[in-house]
Amino acid sequence: MKKVAIVGAGFVGSTAAYAMLIQGIAHEIVIIDLNKEKAHGEAMDLEQGMQFTQSAKISYGSDLNLCQGADVIVITAGLAQKPGETRLNLVKRNAVIFKEMIPKLVSYNKDAVYLIITNPVDIMAYLTLKYSGLPANKVFGSGTSLDSARFRYYLGQKFDINPTAVHAFILGEHGDSEFPAISSATIAGMHINDFEGYSPEAVNECYDETKKAAYEIISRKGATYYAIGLVIAKIVKGILNDEHIVLPLSVHLDNYYDEGNLCMSVPCVLGKEGIVKKYQLPLSADEQAKLHNSAKILKDIIKGVYP
Ligand code: NAD
Repeated sequence: MKKVAIVGAGFVGSTAAYAMLIQGIAHEIVIIDLNKEKAHGEAMDLEQGMQFTQSAKISYGSDLNLCQGADVIVITAGLAQKPGETRLNLVKRNAVIFKEMIPKLVSYNKDAVYLIITNPVDIMAYLTLKYSGLPANKVFGSGTSLDSARFRYYLGQKFDINPTAVHAFILGEHGDSEFPAISSATIAGMHINDFEGYSPEAVNECYDETKKAAYEIISRKGATYYAIGLVIAKIVKGILNDEHIVLPLSVHLDNYYDEGNLCMSVPCVLGKEGIVKKYQLPLSADEQAKLHNSAKILKDIIKGVYP
């Protein structure tokens, strides 16, 4: 029996549940929200599509004890970015919620893998690790998985090729200081610099689009949820099926280019116990400087919420 609990039934949590249901990833999906009526409504809406999906049990409620027995707990609960608000501005408000919620969740389930989505995701993953006392492989954030998917999409558009043939990571903070690891990027098996039509300007445009994407979507429709819903489904499936997929995830670093005691995105192998392995990607001197810049920004914020 594969069971997934989603804490937070807002735009992101309910879309992730929908993506998981359509893909037949779990036998049971539990939707938990402070607002029980919202959780109930989302569960009903999902159940009524069951004729067109594989069957799954959908449970709901406001009690955190519903996470008992879940293999994966996805946390999307909290406050979302307002138009124009940076993810980092959210931190204090969401830290208060996590300080109360995480120890309760762990008291009901200390065996699950905890996947953090709430922003600013790098800080919330770090706080979850600290408030839970769980091992670092079991607690991580979606990090720059979404940003990397966006970057691959824009590169694909630019070079007229499917994003699945583009391999390029966005690393560092899931936020304004994130950076593209161009020195290791490939398209159709060729180093990106050798690909027909390559220019630094073209790649930079794709990176700019990637960085602006969340702000652009939020200013137009108020929230982002379809792409992140699919990212969540991909990560959860990778865990439940022990797939050893490689994604940039916000994990606890201890000695990554000398950076430690923070969570930030680097390429990771994902399996049923969570993080199986982190790769120290060869980075150019410029990329290393950007990695250190992201780390500094995040560590300064951590000092403010977890001194
Ligand atoms: P939303 O406001 O629609 O949903 C949040 C839900 O959390 C609400 O239903 C609320 O009732 C619930 N909630 C709040 N406190 C709770 C608690 N203590 N226990 C249980 N439920 C609680 O917001 P959203 O658009 O779904 O976004 C959710 C989070 O995901 C935000 O922080 C947003 O910034 C983040 N997000 C992250 C990424 C990413 O790539 N990591 C992408 C998109 C959104």
